[in-house]
Amino acid sequence: MKFEEMSLPQEIVQSLQRQHIASPTEVQEKAIPLVLQGTDVIVRSKTGSGKTLAFLIPTFTKLTRTTKGPEALVLTPTRELAVQIFKDARMLDKNIRAAVVYGGVGISPQIDSLRRGVDILIATPGRFLDLMERRAVDLSHVTFAVLDEADRMLDMGFIDDVRRIISTLPKQRQMMLFSATMPQEVVRISQDFMNKPQFLMLGEDEITVNTIAQRCIGVDRKEKFNTLMKILRDERVQKGIVFCNTKTWAETLGNLLFRRGVRAMSLHSGLSQSRRQRVIDDFKQGRFALLVATDVAARGLHIDAVTHVFNYDLPRNPKDYIHRIGRTGRAGNSGNAISFVTTVDEPLLRNIEREINQFIDVQTGTGAHGVRPAPTPPSAVVGDTAPSAVATNAPRSTVVNDDASDLWKGFD
Ligand code: ADP
Ligand code: MG
Repeated sequence: MKFEEMSLPQEIVQSLQRQHIASPTEVQEKAIPLVLQGTDVIVRSKTGSGKTLAFLIPTFTKLTRTTKGPEALVLTPTRELAVQIFKDARMLDKNIRAAVVYGGVGISPQIDSLRRGVDILIATPGRFLDLMERRAVDLSHVTFAVLDEADRMLDMGFIDDVRRIISTLPKQRQMMLFSATMPQEVVRISQDFMNKPQFLMLGEDEITVNTIAQRCIGVDRKEKFNTLMKILRDERVQKGIVFCNTKTWAETLGNLLFRRGVRAMSLHSGLSQSRRQRVIDDFKQGRFALLVATDVAARGLHIDAVTHVFNYDLPRNPKDYIHRIGRTGRAGNSGNAISFVTTVDEPLLRNIEREINQFIDVQTGTGAHGVRPAPTPPSAVVGDTAPSAVATNAPRSTVVNDDASDLWKGFD
């Protein structure tokens, strides 16, 4: 199947060709015709399988581009994801009037951009509501609404905001829900505002991407730092993400790694928005090697050629595991997902294994632990000659003791 055979406008097919995208992925091949038909859709498809274009392509095909207010609205859980989708939209059609609104930055430029007229608006819920209250956005022409990362948008943190937004949309509209995880509970909630949705649940028997080699390493809490350093060196990690459960720890760990010569930067919600966007842009550009992040980076972000995802802390919500490791092994590439498991984490690991419907081998770390028999690790994907995240002539810190066990003093 080629995009040419999908009765899409010539401009869209050409624009895809310019980006060397010729054939639809499975989710695109199946979702695009459904959306073009005018049905509401609930789509589950794996991380990195091309869901963004699966909603942008048919939406763009159907826009009339004649109204002042937006005809399409895309809601996302994070600011960085909103910006990414905005850029994807511009890439797909440079003539589209697209706008992106999110919190943490000035509202006036956003109000101005909406005043100039917009076909597609990409937004995070909080700022969107703010703009709604200021009557800065006209929703009367919205005929397409997308919840990207839909299960996140409909969980406790966002549901009230999202319900409020949806309730103000015109009744004649097409709703689209997309995510790599689509629990039954979310499907049930969505029935309140969906109109006879068609379900597209891909990869029924396999939830994670099979080109991601998943490993767990049994460690004591105090061994985590040295174990991470060792893997970064041994596997010459050039582009990796380390997930932590708190912003304090994402900040601290980023700094500790940096002082030990690792080209690392932190990303979490405690930073200014300009800083957050700069960090993510720099990481996308490959200007540093290791992103140390909270779950603010767990969903939706596409960063080319990430070879390693580390769970420095196991996520408390097993679905976040799927999204976190999905930052690697995207669009057919391979990747490594390495999770540190302490004895207290074992119930969390059981939950994750249940969620992904598979067992993950637990290797022993540097110390004695061993939850289960340890298989030999899969070999690293990065070539021998590649520069690693750890600079060999790294300046040694005078502040941090080389004995990593000291690093944990005060963090318990
Ligand atoms: P998802 O939302 O499913 O996690 P994305 O929409 O972020 O995935 O797409 C992942 C990557 O795959 C992006 O870099 C995108 O440009 C690329 N991609 C999307 N569709 C195709 C396609 N049909 N052929 C090749 N690459 C594609
Ligand atoms: Mg996505």
